[in-house]
Amino acid sequence: MKINIERDSKVPLYVQIKNQIRDMIYSKIIPKDYVLPSERELGKSLDVNRSTVVKSYEKLKEEGLISSQVGKGTYVIYSDEDISNVKSNEFPKSLFWDEIYSESSKNNYNTVINEIMNIHDNGKTISFAGGIPSPDLFPKEEFNKIQKNLLKSKVEEIFSHSPVTGHKGLKKEIKKLMLGREVRASIKEIMVTSGSQQGLDVIVRTFVNPNDIILVEEPTFFGAIELFKSLGAKVIGVPMDKCGIRIDILEYLIKKHKPKFIYVIPNFHNPTGITMSLERRYEIIKISGKYGIPIIEDDPYGELLYEGDALPPLKALDRFNYVLYLSSFSKVISLGLRVGWIVAPERVINKLSMFKQLTDLHVNTLSQNMICEFLREGYYEKYIKKIRIEYALKRDLMIKELEKSFKEIEIYKPQGGFYLWCRFEKKIDIKVLLKKSITNGVNFVSGNFFTVKDKEETRFIRLNFTYPKKEEIIIGINRLRKSLDEMIET
Ligand code: PMP
Repeated sequence: MKINIERDSKVPLYVQIKNQIRDMIYSKIIPKDYVLPSERELGKSLDVNRSTVVKSYEKLKEEGLISSQVGKGTYVIYSDEDISNVKSNEFPKSLFWDEIYSESSKNNYNTVINEIMNIHDNGKTISFAGGIPSPDLFPKEEFNKIQKNLLKSKVEEIFSHSPVTGHKGLKKEIKKLMLGREVRASIKEIMVTSGSQQGLDVIVRTFVNPNDIILVEEPTFFGAIELFKSLGAKVIGVPMDKCGIRIDILEYLIKKHKPKFIYVIPNFHNPTGITMSLERRYEIIKISGKYGIPIIEDDPYGELLYEGDALPPLKALDRFNYVLYLSSFSKVISLGLRVGWIVAPERVINKLSMFKQLTDLHVNTLSQNMICEFLREGYYEKYIKKIRIEYALKRDLMIKELEKSFKEIEIYKPQGGFYLWCRFEKKIDIKVLLKKSITNGVNFVSGNFFTVKDKEETRFIRLNFTYPKKEEIIIGINRLRKSLDEMIET
């Protein structure tokens, strides 16, 4: 029985051994009743641990190919003649899905988004982790009215499909919204997406080849980092200062790497909360034109300004169409309705719609109609005013509570958005703090999820202030303090 081990392979050793024995059984190189070497012998001859062979044999037993008996050892029980005798309800044999994954899905992706959503569901933990609007403020009455009207007057429409690039009425409303953001876009330059996350996905699928380089602010939104990496792109971080991405380093990295895209979040950046200054906005537009590198501008938080003046998005400064602009209703109206949009040149929208239709045909028609009516009826503007006031209060409360309880934290106060980015002055093990915090009933996201380099140590944590109730903010910060004290004591 000859088995070849490839030690450099990504396939675990026990799977290699198991697969080769399985193949020999199926191809009758080793017949029924053949006695396999003992686990110790095979381990020794292959120079692997006995436990590795034990695992391979266990899997072969689960597949019904071998068995063990005291005195007889481990032997083959499979024979293809047996197949005709097997009752149909014994099929199919168990399939090991992890052996047939595509190359790209074999990577161990960060599951932080999933984890945050799940923790969020458990009801006991105070969550400072998610990027979720306040459930108390959801515009329930308005949506109740809208839904009733839609069911009365547009029932056929809401149960039907929509155009791939989006519901026409909604696109008209988005066009008006964009004018308010100083961007003049035609209907044909707008595509409705299932949140900004899908907007990003179709852009990357349309333009990015494996090994292309994408420059991003460091730190940045983990959903973007993971997405870019999953499609084979190389992601390189550009440090930020209090005015946004560092232009000097950006220019150096552009010259060095000739990236495919620059990805930025100019308004109330996730996770740092930083607002890119107006000067920086002009500079990045200039650099992008100078080197011919397009920009992906991700702007889900732009409406949530709590103080100071609103700055124009990069798209508003973009005279030569270098910017693909993304935005979303997730952070302002509802994450669950899954409605966002892209503004891009018409020919780009046409190309992007190809992947859009292959992914999900179009955004849910009911969601598009609900948001469209919310905008058309004029509810949106009133609602934004209301949540701005509430979120500013929550932000200030969280800062006050942190300042009261933590002398060892530097807080980045954002002008808007969802997050406080907090830096521990002394090095602490954030992983241990998170574990203790979860035990004490509060959670947050560790700063290292937002870094491009894997396993980078961090002194940062990100706290969301929009989702928790005000009283939960007070209790949650106390629980965080308790968790840090417990850590210092041990
Ligand atoms: N971009 C950024 C910067 C985000 O923070 C998020 C959500 N946290 C998204 C995109 C995805 O948002 P959506 O729900 O619209 O897909």
